Amino acid sequence: MLASRLYAPTLREMPSDADVISQQLMLRAGFVRKVAGGLYTYLPLAWRSIHKINEIIREEMEAINSQEIMMPILQPSELWEESGRWAAYGAEMMRISDRHGREYCLGPTHEEMVTNLVRGEVNSYRQLPLSLYQIQNKYRDERRPRYGLMRSREFIMKDAYSFDIDEEGMSKSFWDMYEAYSKIFKRCGLTCKPVEADNGAIGGSGSFEFMALAESGEADVIHCTTCDYAANIEIGQPKALEVDTEEAKALETVSTPDAKSIQAVADMLELPLEKTIKAVVYNIEGKVILAIVRGDHEVNEIAVQRAVEGGIEPEMATPEDLVRVGLTAGFISPVGLSQTEEFAIVVDETVMNLHNVCGGANTIDAHYININPNRDFNVDDIIVAPIRLITLDDPCPKCDGQLRIDKGIEVGQVFKLGTKYSESMNATVLNQGGRPTPFQMGCYGIGVGRTLAAAIEQSYDENGIIWPVAIAPFEVVIVPINAKDEALMEVSERLYKEMKQTGIDVLLDDRKDRAGVKFKDADLIGYPVRITVSKNTIESGEVELRVRKDGSTSTVKIDEVTTSIYKQGLIPSDAATSNKDYP
Ligand code: ATP
Ligand code: MG
Repeated sequence: MLASRLYAPTLREMPSDADVISQQLMLRAGFVRKVAGGLYTYLPLAWRSIHKINEIIREEMEAINSQEIMMPILQPSELWEESGRWAAYGAEMMRISDRHGREYCLGPTHEEMVTNLVRGEVNSYRQLPLSLYQIQNKYRDERRPRYGLMRSREFIMKDAYSFDIDEEGMSKSFWDMYEAYSKIFKRCGLTCKPVEADNGAIGGSGSFEFMALAESGEADVIHCTTCDYAANIEIGQPKALEVDTEEAKALETVSTPDAKSIQAVADMLELPLEKTIKAVVYNIEGKVILAIVRGDHEVNEIAVQRAVEGGIEPEMATPEDLVRVGLTAGFISPVGLSQTEEFAIVVDETVMNLHNVCGGANTIDAHYININPNRDFNVDDIIVAPIRLITLDDPCPKCDGQLRIDKGIEVGQVFKLGTKYSESMNATVLNQGGRPTPFQMGCYGIGVGRTLAAAIEQSYDENGIIWPVAIAPFEVVIVPINAKDEALMEVSERLYKEMKQTGIDVLLDDRKDRAGVKFKDADLIGYPVRITVSKNTIESGEVELRVRKDGSTSTVKIDEVTTSIYKQGLIPSDAATSNKDYP
């Protein structure tokens, strides 16, 4: 490809509405353009990199006998009614109807579609295991589309589904996919950590997320500095704290005018936060949920969702929600409250072990002191569950070691689904004994665009992107410093042809711009290797080879450039993406 023909409009200025570095750089370097919130056009540079990621995915799927298919994006509501997710999926689902009033969604994921595909056609255990995948646009009406390609409303996902006769088979398919995912992200040049994860709306019995560690990550990854424990903080289960053995004192009401936060109350009454309880109120699908944790702890919203078996993630309750169920904002505790159809109380396990703590008196400007939850809560009418977030003060749940928290970008996730979809959708297969049994399924996703963005989040400098070679839009750029000079162009073109022949993905910057402009663009776009052909080349027969990653330069004889690139390991000679004809 010639740079003079490449459509990569670069921007001088940092785009103002880009909220993460990958987004800023992809806009500036001419990789993507925004159409509307969460909607992007991939320009040639991004699309080439995406092709390379997809190619790596395809190779690793082939290696574990997963086969590529393509299902419709448009999915009839009937299938989702069968699984029960038409209602449960909530506002994130993009729904449309056709001219006859039939309802559809734009696929946010494809469990229903693929289960429907195999039921009735895969009849015997002899046809299993079966693994299918596709690479396709997905649609989710995200509450907050942001971070460019990382959280968009239309995005490219590779989604795979496995079918087995029994749990053992499912487990094998699951771990095969786990291994394949580890290889995919490694080959893409990402530093990724598989972490234990929540099953969320998908359902099932076990899951890992592949987290690209980066400051801009939206997830908190908690991991042990001693052992291999690593989990999304949402699923981190802190060890139970020691029970305090204080003698229970009599409940008292104290006046706490305007002290609406537990910190304000603790300050006013000179109590440590550990001697208080904190109320956070949520709304899950219209039901108001009162969550209670110790004053110095934070609520794990996903644990709350699990405790009340809610279909979607909790939202903060509105003032109207509080009024509806008779709660007094700022002064809430479970003392004297009972659950109703539209109101649930979830109390953290730790709280039930406390004695003589301070909490809201459920009336304006007043708090109780000496609450003893086991005595003062309506214990038969509350849900007790582990709902506090694990913290750095907690020991590692596995080995008691010191924990640490890092930010992660979830680039992929693998799920053991079990029979959740095969049972609800009546998808059975005859087992070895000739009995119909529901398929044991797994599902597996990779965010392709998110992977691309995460690679940038992990690798850039003040001049631009530093691509991992495997997914760089071009591996090498040749820059003749003066494209009007025929002698320079002659050498450059010769090198360009030779590199192409050996399978190097190379761009010739034949633009008649100043050398400085071309160098800046090369750094911004982030080609792993830059070859500079200058006046000196004609005299000495040497070019400059510059490595983007570390800025190191060397002079290399024209005839040895290609071999030198391979010898230095700048492009792996077995690169899957070499020798391919990209658009
Ligand atoms: P998140 O928790 O970040 O919303 P998710 O867990 O809902 O993601 P999955 O259903 O596991 O997402 O989808 C598989 C993969 O698709 C994710 O691991 C992620 O890489 C990607 N993905 C999900 N939502 C988006 C999005 N809105 N934009 C881009 N990629 C996404
Ligand atoms: Mg996920």
